[in-house]
Amino acid sequence: MYIFKKITDLQEYLSSQREKGLKIGFVPTMGALHKGHISLIEASKNGSDLTVCSIFVNPTQFDNADDLQKYNRNLPKDAEMLGLAGNEVLFAPSVQEIYPPDLDTEIRMEFGSLTKVLEGRFRTGHFEGMVQVVSRLLDIVQPNSLYMGQKDFQQAAIVNAMLSQQKREIELVVCPIIREAHGLAMSSRNTRLDPNDRQAAKAIHERLLIAKEQINDTPIDQIKKEANAHLEKVGFRPDYFEIVDGNSLQSLNQTSESEYVVACVAAYMKDVRLIDNMILRKA
Ligand code: AMP
Repeated sequence: MYIFKKITDLQEYLSSQREKGLKIGFVPTMGALHKGHISLIEASKNGSDLTVCSIFVNPTQFDNADDLQKYNRNLPKDAEMLGLAGNEVLFAPSVQEIYPPDLDTEIRMEFGSLTKVLEGRFRTGHFEGMVQVVSRLLDIVQPNSLYMGQKDFQQAAIVNAMLSQQKREIELVVCPIIREAHGLAMSSRNTRLDPNDRQAAKAIHERLLIAKEQINDTPIDQIKKEANAHLEKVGFRPDYFEIVDGNSLQSLNQTSESEYVVACVAAYMKDVRLIDNMILRKA
């Protein structure tokens, strides 16, 4: 696997590969890799000729300094996992490389309510930072396809809107959520849960499954109320358990309002904030 830290070195290599007609698949990550990330590498390897994975803990998308500081960084371990997965190129730039002081990387785009609901209500500036880094990385890598996880449902919806507003000819492939054996969605933050909390955290997935069973015959308010109550009972502090339209991300009052119904949840277990979601119904 090639490892590049400098944009110019990466671009020199990628243009030589593009000249050979190779299609580039791109998987942006913040490292602390797990099987969820590796599933994106595998999807990219299936759909592209050359896979580029980036590892960059993007400071501009953290609304919480403590979260940024505690973010698990272990490049040698991540590189080993990527090598074993057959990833071809790793791009691991410094903050200086991505945000040189003399370059205006801010993206001034309007996404309407997409950035304001769900996570947007609780993480001020998070999506602005995410859009900034994804846009910057796409300018650098210029991939044919971009692989992201459904785990971050709202992020994928915003990136989709960004790609079309920027008129980029990049295919967005959204890959399924990879879970632990007991159902907890894999996340870099899971390592911060103690064994008891990690066990209790399976309740998020359980409630999503129950919501899926209930969706056709139970009022949405009741589904949400029961889910929140159960999450609180097992030790969570939910930020939200919402049932939304999968395109607009607007909350639904009745299931008949949409053909594409998704449950999205964010909840704290002690100081660890977890998010998850499930498509409850799609026409
Ligand atoms: P992150 O490093 O957390 O920014 O995540 C990088 C990419 O991996 C994002 O597109 C995430 O949606 C995706 N991802 C994270 N966790 C999972 C998971 N459990 N299953 C599938 N994809 C995931």
